[in-house]
Amino acid sequence: MQRAGKPLNGALVGHSKLGKARLHKNGYSRRMPETRVYDLHTHTFYSDGALAPAELVARAAANGVQVLALTDHDVTDGVPEAQAAAQLAGITLVPGVEISVTWGAQTVHVVGLNIDMANVALQTGLARLREFRDWRAGEIGRRLAKAGIPGAIEGARARAQRGLVSRTHFAQFLVAAGHAADVRSVFKKFLVHGKPGYVPGQWAGLDEAIGWINAAGGQAVLAHPARYKITATRLGKLLGEFRDAGGAAIEVVSGSHSRDDMFRFGQLANRYGLLASSGSDFHGPQNYYMDLGPMPALPDGCTPVWQGWGA
Ligand code: AMP
Ligand code: MN
Ligand code: MN
Ligand code: MN
Repeated sequence: MQRAGKPLNGALVGHSKLGKARLHKNGYSRRMPETRVYDLHTHTFYSDGALAPAELVARAAANGVQVLALTDHDVTDGVPEAQAAAQLAGITLVPGVEISVTWGAQTVHVVGLNIDMANVALQTGLARLREFRDWRAGEIGRRLAKAGIPGAIEGARARAQRGLVSRTHFAQFLVAAGHAADVRSVFKKFLVHGKPGYVPGQWAGLDEAIGWINAAGGQAVLAHPARYKITATRLGKLLGEFRDAGGAAIEVVSGSHSRDDMFRFGQLANRYGLLASSGSDFHGPQNYYMDLGPMPALPDGCTPVWQGWGA
């Protein structure tokens, strides 16, 4: 999913010159050296990831992550298991979710961090999205069948380990059935706009998703902004609307951002008065370019989304 350039993970470990402390006017370091390793965007098999929550937490801890957010697509059911595992492993688990949003003709993703999972508005909203997801899965199956590919819905459901069906599961089925060489090319051939398995539809509104997250006491983070194929003007509009609706941060460092993307979005975060987040978007060990572990530091001048979280 990384669009260009070299893998980020491991390429620039820890506290590089990007995170160099600057001197405050009083002469002391304005920014304490960041001592904790954060990964605030990850998935398990409760959505389209490969690992169980306990496996995700074990891998994160082994790779040096100290604060881990579980942010499955449209569902929070993996959080309690992850929380129990994190307690045993001695790391901090941030309850999260990644909400599917329709903004104009675009699907965008909004991560919620530190959400109260018991919040009714949030859970009612997520349940509605999962209902749409379920209908869409059937529709993807029907459309692929018409295009001469039978059995796709059964194949996808068999791969959805906790019932939530993602296009990722269709992609895995299509690759296994020999319709494409890998998951990346299968998306291009079958699952994106204009292709036989693409189903348009309405996810949450941007305001709605941010409203649910804020109602649940969380912080809304615009996920992997470099991935949206929109003009700079539209992007500015998106960031403005996101902030005005109560959004808190954007992902500046992401497993799917190039180094240029990080600097660009670091500047945009500041321009729009938004905090900066950092997350791998880890889905599973087979995604070699997006492992869990130390990511590049946030560019100098960004205010981290975790500022004020306490120890
Ligand atoms: P869904 O939410 O069911 O529409 O599925 C979206 C998920 O598919 C994303 O969260 C990614 O994990 C995955 N995905 C989307 N586009 C691609 C792509 N081009 N290559 C590989 N995975 C993709
Ligand atoms: Mn995904
Ligand atoms: Mn996403
Ligand atoms: Mn994600």
